[in-house]
Amino acid sequence: MGWISLNAYRAGLERYKSKHSFYYEPSRLWSDIRHFWHVFLTGYGSESMSGAIAQRPKRVGILGGTFDPPHLGHLVVADQVLDQLGLDEVRLVVNNSPWQKVGEREITPPQRRLALVAAAVGAAPRVAASGVEIELGGPSYSLVTLEALSAREPGTEWLVVVGADAAAGLDTWHRADELRERHEFVVVNRPGHEGPPPSGWRCRPVEIPALDVSSSELRRLVASGRSIRWLTPDPVVELIDRWRLYRG
Ligand code: ATP
Ligand code: MG
Repeated sequence: MGWISLNAYRAGLERYKSKHSFYYEPSRLWSDIRHFWHVFLTGYGSESMSGAIAQRPKRVGILGGTFDPPHLGHLVVADQVLDQLGLDEVRLVVNNSPWQKVGEREITPPQRRLALVAAAVGAAPRVAASGVEIELGGPSYSLVTLEALSAREPGTEWLVVVGADAAAGLDTWHRADELRERHEFVVVNRPGHEGPPPSGWRCRPVEIPALDVSSSELRRLVASGRSIRWLTPDPVVELIDRWRLYRG
C-alpha cells in the first residue's frame, strides 16, 4: 500500500513538474536556507556551501611584500585571512622593485625572492606565490597591480591584505586617493604596531596570533651567523644557505 501511494506521489510530482516551469526541489531547501542565513549574518559564503554559492565572485586576498626573505609571519597572515574570511585564495605578491625601500639596503633580485616565496608556500592549498609585479616590471605600485589583475581576471573580488605597520603608511602609497576609493583592505595586527589605520580607508581588521618575526630580523640573524630554523620553512633556509644570501 505504502509502495503504491509512493509511486502515485512520484507520478503526480512528475506531472506537476511537466506543467509548471518553476519547480523547487524540496531537498535543496535546507541547504539554501543555511546558505542565505549565513550570508545574511556574515556577509560571506563558506566553503562547505560551495554548491549553493557557485555563482558568487571568486574572492582573493593579495598580500604584497618584499619577502626578503619570507617567514612564518607571512604564512600565518595568509592562512588566517584565508580561513577567517572564507577566501578562495591568498596570493603572496612579490614586489619587483619596492620603491619605498630602494636605496635603504641591498635588495635580493626579484626572481630569487619569488623562488623563496614559492619554497615557503610549498604545496599549501589555496595559498600561492605570485610574480605578477615582476612581469609588470619597474616600481611596484599596488594600484597598478590591482588594475592588471582585474583586467586579467574580471569578476574576481580583490582584498588587499596588509600588516598594521604597512596600514599605518597607506597615505604614502602611490595614487593613494584612487587606492582609497577603489579598494578594500584587510588589516592584521603585528606586534609593535598598535595604532589604528589612517582614517578614510575601508579597513577590515582581522585578529591573528601575533608573531614577532620580520624579514629584517632574519637577515640580521643570518648576517651574524645565527640560526633561522623554524622562523621560516626548511626549504627557504636551504635556498638562503645555497645562495649565501644575507651574509653581509
Ligand atoms: P622587512 O623587515 O624587510 O620590512 P617584513 O617582515 O615587514 O620585512 P614585508 O615583506 O615587508 O616583510 O611584509 C609584507 C607584508 O606582510 C606587510 O603587509 C607586512 O605588514 C606583513 N607582515 C610581515 N610580517 C608580519 C607579521 N609578523 N605579522 C603581521 N604582518 C606581517
Ligand atoms: Mg616590512
